[in-house]
Amino acid sequence: MLQLRPNCECCDRDLPGDSEEALICSFECTFCPTCAERLGLRCPNCGGRLLARPPRSGAALERHPASTERVLKADGCAAVLQPS
Ligand SMILES: [Zn+2]
Ligand SMILES: [Zn+2]
Repeated sequence: MLQLRPNCECCDRDLPGDSEEALICSFECTFCPTCAERLGLRCPNCGGRLLARPPRSGAALERHPASTERVLKADGCAAVLQPS
């Protein structure tokens, strides 16, 4: 089951479990669309592809709540992100 991490690992933006915007790699490193695009849709941690995370909503989200454990890269992905 997906953890549904609650935030973007680069910019710490909120990405709730029912968000349609989150992108994840196979390890569930989680990013917002802006950061994912700047990363070239490659996970900076494992090199895997970032794909849209399916939203969990309604009763399913109530039964299996999203993770509340925020994961944030120490450098905010500065090392891999190009200045915009
Ligand atoms: Zn972000
Ligand atoms: Zn990853």
